[in-house]
Amino acid sequence: NRRIVLASRPYGAPTPNDFRLEQQPIPVPGAGELLLRNVYLSLDPYVRGRMSDAPSYSPPMEINDVIVGGTVSKVVQSNHPEFQAGDWVVGQAGWQDYIVTDGQGIIKLDSTVPHPSYALGILGMPGFTAYMGLLDIGQPKAGETLVVAAATGPVGGTVGQIAKLKGCRVIGIAGGAEKCRYAVETLGFDVCLDHYQMDLAQQLAKACPQGIDIYYENVGGKVFDAVLPLLNPRARIPVCGIISQYNATALPDGPDRLSLLESIILKKRIRMQGFIIFNDYAHHFGEFIQQMGQWVAEGKIKYREHLVQELENAPKAFIGLLKGENFGKLVIQLGNE
Ligand code: NDP
Repeated sequence: NRRIVLASRPYGAPTPNDFRLEQQPIPVPGAGELLLRNVYLSLDPYVRGRMSDAPSYSPPMEINDVIVGGTVSKVVQSNHPEFQAGDWVVGQAGWQDYIVTDGQGIIKLDSTVPHPSYALGILGMPGFTAYMGLLDIGQPKAGETLVVAAATGPVGGTVGQIAKLKGCRVIGIAGGAEKCRYAVETLGFDVCLDHYQMDLAQQLAKACPQGIDIYYENVGGKVFDAVLPLLNPRARIPVCGIISQYNATALPDGPDRLSLLESIILKKRIRMQGFIIFNDYAHHFGEFIQQMGQWVAEGKIKYREHLVQELENAPKAFIGLLKGENFGKLVIQLGNE
């Protein structure tokens, strides 16, 4: 049983030395327990927060803990009445090949999911995040302009496509020409801007002649700087993530612009609201799965995975996720289906 544990807490960007690969015997399930073999492992930005011991919405990992992560697994052996060998299940087994569990928090994979790994992306946590943040907080209306960055990832890509279904004009922001082309040609965004271009703010102003009604916040930093002056009265900002700051060790340099931000929020009556998907919206998951399952089956929502083989490659892939090296939902495949 291979497993990857937290070797040290990163200062700034994580490095390979913050992770340690260990070998252990495969655990044996006791009475009422089941043994799972993990086949797909989700790598997600929130894991960076759990590697730190700064206060957050959930407790940090401890040193030597297995790194946390969502998983799709196959039941190898079951002493549990509700599961049988061969079942596909979704859970939080973390960065390891096998786990023994009493079944708490483990759910059977919905038989309508087109591919098991989709339960980690479009039909799982990131898709759900896009759906609730946009529809509940963003409140999109036909004819409005929406801006979203990390535009080809599982959250941003889905936000933009749902907004198109709701009749919005959608401006994506992504890292590089290839991602931008994909956002327009495959995902159907109206425009996609490359945030590595120096004149991002001017390009965004040109792309949003009617201003911005919804800014779905995934990255923060210079993207938010470019968005701020373009916000319309009564704009909504679902604050989903600020990935550009996850590796930061201090507040950014420069003048304190907090009062500028507050005055814009006040004068334009902007609604800016953070949310943590399962803490706030768990009771909506059934509704989400039904609607998103239908959109995916009908081809109305497209989804791209970035599949990396083998657990050993998870640290490098995760470090890359925080730098935009992934193109689509980052998933590790640990073994054969
Ligand atoms: P993605 O697969 O989109 O990966 C992250 C992307 O962020 C990268 O590919 C990169 O895209 C972009 N990025 C990374 N660093 C920077 C930077 N410095 N500046 C600008 N862009 C950067 O991730 P997800 O779709 O899984 O997550 C998107 C956001 O949603 C994250 O902020 C995440 O924390 C948040 N989230 C929040 C949840 C909640 O409950 N609130 C739940 C799930 C996710 P590019 O190359 O295009 O710049």
